[in-house]
Amino acid sequence: MTRERRCGEGWKTLDEDVKVAATGLGTVPHMPELPEMEAWRRQLDAPVSAFAIAKAGPAHIATLKTFDPPPAALVGRRFRGAERRAKRLLFPTDDGELVLLVHLMTAGRLKYLAPGEKGPAKPVFALEFFCCAKLVLTENAKKKRAGVWLLTPDDAQAELGHLGPEADTLDAAQLAEILRSDSRRLHAFLRDQRLIAGIGRAWANEILHTAKLSPYALSGDLDEEEIERLAAAIHSELERGLALREKGASDEKTYRVHRKLGEPCHVCGTPLAQVDFEEHTIFYCPTCQTGGRVLKDRRMSRLLR
Ligand SMILES: [Zn+2]
Repeated sequence: MTRERRCGEGWKTLDEDVKVAATGLGTVPHMPELPEMEAWRRQLDAPVSAFAIAKAGPAHIATLKTFDPPPAALVGRRFRGAERRAKRLLFPTDDGELVLLVHLMTAGRLKYLAPGEKGPAKPVFALEFFCCAKLVLTENAKKKRAGVWLLTPDDAQAELGHLGPEADTLDAAQLAEILRSDSRRLHAFLRDQRLIAGIGRAWANEILHTAKLSPYALSGDLDEEEIERLAAAIHSELERGLALREKGASDEKTYRVHRKLGEPCHVCGTPLAQVDFEEHTIFYCPTCQTGGRVLKDRRMSRLLR
């Protein structure tokens, strides 16, 4: 399941998304990554385990990915809390029998509603607790991509089995081993969930900028010092992101490079650049990351590094 998919058409504005007129992208939502999901996990951990589940559903047919056990199997059980693996949230029941797994993809948003709090009109999945808080999943997009799975713990393990180690747990030696396993452009490499779990487009931009590495550099070409810089940047950027997201910071305040075309680099002042790569856009600083070279659109011409 669930390798990162690209943005489709027809996304609508979500209130938490920032205007990025300079990039011409409009208000396009993007997939929450490790810092965003971890901030949500911490927020949800206590409230979802406070009371047993009174009602499960309704669920949009495209959102609920499993039918056995049915959502009603959750009724009367209580969650142990909220856990996270890569960009997914997991809610295991405290009897150890079931796990509710949620992947928000690009436009899915999970909200905890206190009793009486007004919720969205058309959630794609909803849970109601005794009494009467709710956990609702919305997806403001024509094409429903977010997913909810109700699984046994073994099946949940299997579902997550393809994922690499969590990005924020890697040291330089482990990272070196992973980098040697496959020679790919760094931006794509960092986003491959089978190799390293939790990083997507936005944090790949932030991490590579902090590491002063070109998004087009090949993973297999990094020397020891560059690998150490990359490992340090993964940690410092994900930590910075989590701290900001826990305080409720917007995309605009959180990112320093991602979707900041033309804004001055916070390190050297050079206007930040962008390049189209595969199906998405990379943001970078030509002075800090590519020795002044402008990266060429990979879809149009042979690429430079
Ligand atoms: Zn710079």
